[in-house]
Amino acid sequence: MSQPVIKTQCPYCGVGCGLEAVPTASGDWKIRGDRDHPSSLGMVCVKGATVMESVNQDRLLYPMFREQLDRPFRRISWEQAFDEITSRLQHLRTSPDAIAMYGSGQFLTEDYYVAQKLIKGCLGTNNFDANSRLCMSSAVSGYMQSLGSDGPPCCYEDLDLCDLAFLVGTNTAECHPILFNRLKKRHRLGSPLKMIVVDPRKTQTAEAADLHLGIRPGSDIDLFNGIAHLLLRWGEIDSLFIEDCTQGFARYAALLSSYEPETVAQRCGISLEDLIQAAKLWQGSRAVLSLWSMGLNQSSEGTAKICSLINLHLMTGQIGKPGMGPFSLTGQPNAMGGREAGGLSHLLPGYRSVRNSAHRADVETFWGLPRGSISAQPGLTATEMISALEAGSLKFFWIAATNPLVSLPDLERVKKALRKSPFTIYQEAYYPTETAEYAHLLLPACQWSEKTGVMTNSERRVTLCQRFQDPPGEARPDWEIFAEVGRRLGFSQHFSFQNAAEVYAEFVALTENRPCDHSGLSHSLLAEAGPQHWPHPKVQTQAKIQDPARLYTDLRFPTPDGLARFIPYHSRGLAEPPDPQYPFVLTTGRVYGHWHTQTRTGRIDKIIKMHPQPFIEIHPHDAEKLALQEGDPVQVRSPRGQAYFPAKITRAIAPGTVFVPMHWGSLWANQAECNALTHDTSCPASGQPELKACAVALRKA
Ligand code: SF4
Repeated sequence: MSQPVIKTQCPYCGVGCGLEAVPTASGDWKIRGDRDHPSSLGMVCVKGATVMESVNQDRLLYPMFREQLDRPFRRISWEQAFDEITSRLQHLRTSPDAIAMYGSGQFLTEDYYVAQKLIKGCLGTNNFDANSRLCMSSAVSGYMQSLGSDGPPCCYEDLDLCDLAFLVGTNTAECHPILFNRLKKRHRLGSPLKMIVVDPRKTQTAEAADLHLGIRPGSDIDLFNGIAHLLLRWGEIDSLFIEDCTQGFARYAALLSSYEPETVAQRCGISLEDLIQAAKLWQGSRAVLSLWSMGLNQSSEGTAKICSLINLHLMTGQIGKPGMGPFSLTGQPNAMGGREAGGLSHLLPGYRSVRNSAHRADVETFWGLPRGSISAQPGLTATEMISALEAGSLKFFWIAATNPLVSLPDLERVKKALRKSPFTIYQEAYYPTETAEYAHLLLPACQWSEKTGVMTNSERRVTLCQRFQDPPGEARPDWEIFAEVGRRLGFSQHFSFQNAAEVYAEFVALTENRPCDHSGLSHSLLAEAGPQHWPHPKVQTQAKIQDPARLYTDLRFPTPDGLARFIPYHSRGLAEPPDPQYPFVLTTGRVYGHWHTQTRTGRIDKIIKMHPQPFIEIHPHDAEKLALQEGDPVQVRSPRGQAYFPAKITRAIAPGTVFVPMHWGSLWANQAECNALTHDTSCPASGQPELKACAVALRKA
């Protein structure tokens, strides 16, 4: 009997395109877009189309162990690996904050959930953080501060309904290509859609815009407040919405008085005409959809940037209706699921907070744990974990499904800290990776296609990703590894799951009546009915099912009084502005074909050919001053380290700013790690580091 076509979701970016795995006559699987998936309608980009090519290459097959980092790994059994883990954890039971886990937006929701139960519930430390801290945590805290809860209020259909797309700090054409194509198609077809792109680089996204605002790195808040100043001056505000649905407008309006357009244009490095044109486009639009990603989030004032953007939507009433609202585009395929499952160090499952005693009590009761089991103290963020390793207070560091030895800022510091770690576990599908070099124990994990579970994409749509092939060697699903450790530590009754569907059933029950209510969802429903938006409550009252694709359609917000908040912020500027010693601003980002640290895409020939090497973009004026020709090697230095890249001379980048892609670690290129240069100064509210900007010096190498 022939095998059926299997439905799943792309394991790369937060667009979350639906995929189908189709069995071939030779016994392999072919991947194609799933035309029935409502988020993507059969479309995929090069990453989704080629994902199968990476699945069977360079896999970590068995647990491997070494006592010291300068020794070779030796193969051990899972039994020995679990003994090693549990004996060390038992030893630390009285000092749980010496334990930390650093997980990933590549986890399935089931992986995230079981990890939270083990680390935060049973072990009693909130030291669980994920690489989403580098990606979306500013969006989380911005939504929380302004709207009272996390969760993007919009959906992809809004791309078809907006008449102004305001794209800020997002190279959507390369990073979320399927969404951008949807916008671009409308734009080309002569619809009334207008596009403003705010980005210091003239990216492919900016090329397609009606108005490109090439602002100075770090001047986003000035721009938002400057547009708001003009709208207020022109009387283009929604007074009724402000009166009925918000609080704090008077303070915001007072702050805006100092944002004279001439000053704002000068601070942002744009013309006064362009600033006025942007405000006029806002003024004339019926439905404004703001889209953003790392350009806002990866900032030492990321939360302030998000709130300042949301302020614009609140003052114009551009929220809660089709085609409008502030819409963060998630980086990773299941960063959203991680937030729902409590996968950051200040969160608990169901959009709960560790700081909230009622939330802790809810979760403890649900998990059947004694009151006080969950710590009231937020755990360490990703970068704080590195500081704790340096300080010697972290004794047990468990990294899973991420490659921090490429992706964390200030890599030399991270490497030194990891060398000091008394015990590091690295749970991963691939070997070698840059991070494996710093581990004592390697645990082979299943990846996409080899395990079943769910992911939530940027529009809050949950997709069941079915397993369709066996894992290689002795690889296991992440959640099974966490559950086995829990059982061996004496928490058998808490980890008696027989399969991922049971894990998911427990998780959704814990979300009941929470803003991210999944309680009506199950693996079987998702398999039968296909992908679903949340909220999806078990009890579907009329009010709750009105429009699950959009939040806040009743113009009430999940704050204590139901009102959204104007949170006024002035900008503090870049944490590390250029100076005479380091006169350039380095900004970083992605290219179309590669994914993050190339763990998968670095193993796919077609993508390697598209992007064979890293590069540094530099404006012709700067190149001339430095006597650089196209392709010349450039030494780039920051106060923390150095790296080398061939010059790409282009007017796409403004003078004084340079751009380097983030994907190349030491495995793929020699001394071309962009994070050797970046710093870890983070947003005080979100803990997200400013990966988007640091000061550098250049010279011809
Ligand atoms: Fe995958 Fe994102 Fe490409 Fe869609 S746009 S196929 S989710 S990488």
